[in-house]
Amino acid sequence: MSNNKQQNKMKNKLKSLAESNAESLRSAFQMNDNSPQPNGIECPKCKEELMDSNPMMTLTSNPPQKNVHCPKCEYSGYRYC
Ligand SMILES: [Zn+2]
Repeated sequence: MSNNKQQNKMKNKLKSLAESNAESLRSAFQMNDNSPQPNGIECPKCKEELMDSNPMMTLTSNPPQKNVHCPKCEYSGYRYC
């Protein structure tokens, strides 16, 4: 492979412990972020993208479901996980 040399160079670029800690904290925070997130599903009413209302919360039904809502037309419903 011709880009082996490049990879060796990259390896020498270590990040500081403080940087690494900051990154870990940031991703831990994002994992716990329960704010609405677009989920790539089309709204059945207005065809805009639906949002997961509480991405971290799964309803314990069978099968499990998540709350979804549409920010445009205020449609709300559920989707199976
Ligand atoms: Zn809609």
